[in-house]
This record gives sequence, C-alpha cells and structure tokens, in this order.
Amino acid sequence: MEHDEILRWLRETDEARLAELWRMADQTRQRHVGGEVHLRGLIEFSNYCVRLCAYCGLRAPNDGLVRYRMSREEIMGCVRQAAAFGYGTVVLQSGEDQGTTTDWLVGLVRQIKAETPLAVTLSVGERSDEDFRAWRAAGADRYLLRFETSNRTLYDRLHPPRPGLRSDRVAMLLRLRDLGYEIGSGVMIGIPGQTYDDLARDIELFVELQLDMIGVGPYLLHPNTPLGDPDFRPMILEGEQVPGDEVTTYKVIALARLACPRANIPSTTALATLNARSGRELGLVRGANVVMPNLTPPKYRVHYEIYPNKACIRETAEGCNACLTERIRSLGRELGSGRGDCPNYQRR
Ligand code: SAM
Ligand code: SF4
Repeated sequence: MEHDEILRWLRETDEARLAELWRMADQTRQRHVGGEVHLRGLIEFSNYCVRLCAYCGLRAPNDGLVRYRMSREEIMGCVRQAAAFGYGTVVLQSGEDQGTTTDWLVGLVRQIKAETPLAVTLSVGERSDEDFRAWRAAGADRYLLRFETSNRTLYDRLHPPRPGLRSDRVAMLLRLRDLGYEIGSGVMIGIPGQTYDDLARDIELFVELQLDMIGVGPYLLHPNTPLGDPDFRPMILEGEQVPGDEVTTYKVIALARLACPRANIPSTTALATLNARSGRELGLVRGANVVMPNLTPPKYRVHYEIYPNKACIRETAEGCNACLTERIRSLGRELGSGRGDCPNYQRR
C-alpha cells in the first residue's frame, strides 16, 4: 500500500467506506491466518522499571505505585494454569527491571520449556545482546518490543535513553530476529505529538521489519507522568494530531492486517479499556487474530498500572479465561490450537 493510500484511510470518516476497510481486513485475515483465535497467557511478573518513558505509569520516578516482583514459583503457578487452560503461549512481561538477572530468567525459561509444551514470549524491555542470546539459548521463542513511534524526534522526547546509552528499538528488533526470535512490535495510537504522517510511516515500518507480531493500542493518559502535564506535550499543527480513539485503533489494526497479511495481531487490553462491551470483538472482526488473557494474580495486577482504569483489573485468571473464550465463540471463531507460530517465521 502506498503512503498516500494509508493516509487517506487513516483520515477516512465515511461509514460506508470504513465498512469496506473492515471487510477487506477480515477477509485478508481469514485467507492468510484462518479463523482460529490464538490465546497468549499474559503474566505481568514485575512492575519495577528503571526507565523514564513519558507515557507510562511504571516509569521509575512514579512513587505513587506499589512495586512487586513475582517469585519463580508464583510465575510457574500461572504457567501451569496456562497449560491447563489449553493456551499455546505464555508472555512474560515486566518493566525494565534490573532485578531480572540474566541467569534468573534463563532458569525460568528452561523450567517452563522442560515442564510444558508452551511457546515463551518475552517482553522485558531493552537488554543486552548477551541477555537476548542467553534467553534464546534457554528456549525463549519470541520477543515483543514496541518501537512506539517511527518519528525519531518524538521517540527521543517520549522515551529518553538510559544515561550514556542510545535507545534504538528498531535496530534491537533486527538483532533479535537474527538471534532466531519471532519478533513483535507496534505503536501507541494517538500519543501526543503523533501526526497522521507519522502513523502512516509506522505502518510502513511494520512491513519493512517483516514483523511476526504487531501489537497496537490506543494511548491512554496517566496523570502521574510527564504527558499528564499539558505543557510537556509536543506542539503540533492543528488537524495533524492523531486521536487516540476507538475507530482510529480499528483502522490501524485493519491496515496492519492488509500490509502484513500473515502477522499475528492481538486485539489488545487498551482497546478493551476504551470499549469494555465489544472492543475486543470488534478488533477480532477487523483484522486481529490473537487475544491475551491475563494470568497475573489479582493482588499484583492492580499494581501493573501502565494507565488508570485498565480493563479486567479485578478479574482472576479463571474469569479472564471464561470471558474471552465465550467472546471468541460468540463470534463463531475457533479457539487456536497449538503454539500459533507466525507463518512468516515458519518459512524463515
Ligand atoms: N517495559 C517493556 C517495554 O517497554 O517494552 C514492556 C512493558 S510496557 C508496559 C508495554 C507497552 O505498554 C509499551 O511498549 C507501551 O507501548 C505500552 N504503554 C505504556 N504506557 C501506555 C499508555 N499510557 N497507554 C497505552 N499504552 C501504554
Ligand atoms: Fe518501563 Fe516499559 Fe513503562 Fe517504559 S513502557 S516505563 S520501559 S514499563
């Protein structure tokens, strides 16, 4: 798809034309990845973070947050639940936590691979190549690292590097792929300072990177972050700011599906936060083929507060499983079986 065509769709408001976009995305999803919806059990195992991301409630200076780090046994309890529910994957996610040592995560990944048939996805931020290599050797299959925005100036403002280091998530994703991981990335939609042109370029970058997984969701404001202060927000020409709303999120899911037909694309929690009643279902009929039921124990998940009023914050793992399973069935779609690897990866 040409840049101008992506731009036109992002600005489209005509309902009949949008219905055509949803139809094309749904057909492309069916043709390339079928009707199965893959379930990835999400374990938010630590909310410690050394970073200063201007958008996120887990950022290091936020002292209004109770910090936690789950023990290996607690995490294994969630992993066993994932296997018992029939999921194909567990996603281990955290802040950029220096308490997660190389060897500790090697031990955990090895134990998961020894005791279950589950694929393991890591989403623990920017780490050294040595760490990535050690975790891959231990059996980790996939790595999620959103590049957040392809606009380098905006990225540097919203995602400051650690002192003395440069943050280049795009280069990191390419190295992860070279190490044999399936790679997943994505952006927030409607983050202050993001123009329509930036967002169209983000979608083009999904194609250039040949992503195996694409996670996109609306930006949701957290008041205890720099972006909570209107004076911090980047200045932008009127009419250029992308809205962080539901319809724009569906457009990006649909365009990502058309641009990367074989990618695994989740219908995200952030989308369900905007529309608890039917956000996830609408994502699934407009290009998405994955959902990520939350397995984090309720006593911890309330503290994984990236943004306020997150969907399903008080649910249990059983509650999330029953709810999402029912939602998938109500669409007439099947629950995925097996690991749900990306066909691109299988070809590589
Ligand atoms: N620390 C890891 C990292 O940054 O890659 C993984 C956890 S981080 C919480 C996962 C994702 O949450 C980020 O990549 C970002 O896109 C998203 N996120 C953070 N703050 C958000 C906000 N206020 N609204 C929506 N999404 C947000
Ligand atoms: Fe930390 Fe990730 Fe949040 Fe940035 S987005 S503050 S790295 S948890």
